[in-house]
Amino acid sequence: MARDAYVNGRYVPHAQAAVHVEDRGFQFADGVYEVVCIRNGRLIDEDGHLDRLDRCLGELRIAWPCERRVMRLIMRRLIGRNGVRNGLIYLQVTRGTAARDFRFPAAARPTLVMTTRRAALAANARAGVRVITIPDIRWKRCDLKTVGLLAQVLGKQEAAERGAFEAWQVDEDGFVTEGTSSNAWILTADGALVTRPASHDILNGITRQSILRIAAAEGVRFEERPFDLDEAYAAREAFVSSATSFVTPVVRIDDRAVGDGTPGALGRRLLEAYVAHAEGAGAS
Ligand code: PMP
Repeated sequence: MARDAYVNGRYVPHAQAAVHVEDRGFQFADGVYEVVCIRNGRLIDEDGHLDRLDRCLGELRIAWPCERRVMRLIMRRLIGRNGVRNGLIYLQVTRGTAARDFRFPAAARPTLVMTTRRAALAANARAGVRVITIPDIRWKRCDLKTVGLLAQVLGKQEAAERGAFEAWQVDEDGFVTEGTSSNAWILTADGALVTRPASHDILNGITRQSILRIAAAEGVRFEERPFDLDEAYAAREAFVSSATSFVTPVVRIDDRAVGDGTPGALGRRLLEAYVAHAEGAGAS
């Protein structure tokens, strides 16, 4: 089966896919991206991802590289060409290629790149994962899903070197913001599902939004508010959420077991409900 990438209007073999050295994504991380999960050949929460892309492009004053309708077509065509049943599609849009200058170029066309990857989704959802905690060293617009991911690269590498799946970033006041590529959740000792509210401090995960809707529909008591490390260490359960990890239980935070150190009942319930959503109303 071919593995093609889509680059500015063309489908090209993945190994030869390239953008120009003066692409502003490469020079300045002047671009945004999205990752959408493919399950049984269908996209999960595609509209939510395209809405977030629209918002990020708007905030950064980057034009859409094509109509939204066309974007959806290209995604499907690439998934079809590559024969991906389960995996991910990455969309990247940069401000385009222009002679190096911090100011916006007068006449650059946005670059659009798409790639797919086969992947087992939510691979750790049954066993659970470990997280470490690190200072949040990112900029002040974490709500924008930009390709500037250096802090996340360093955090994820540190997690890997310390035997963990993810690093929870902690703000200057001691509150958890989010993981390097996932949102952070706890079930408090007194039974409330807690996650940080959407603001400039976190990326408002599309999976996060789906889980909040599921929690509301299922009558789970939840609170959108910051939580600190003491509260996290004392939690009954903890999870991470993202398009790739769905709802994955956290069984250890730093050197402390969460609850009894195994995935808990609420995590299991939310995962099942999310999978049902991914195979039902959330699929397109
Ligand atoms: N926070 C950050 C920093 C992320 O990179 C991601 C992954 N895109 C998420 C949260 C989860 O977002 P989503 O549920 O849309 O994948």
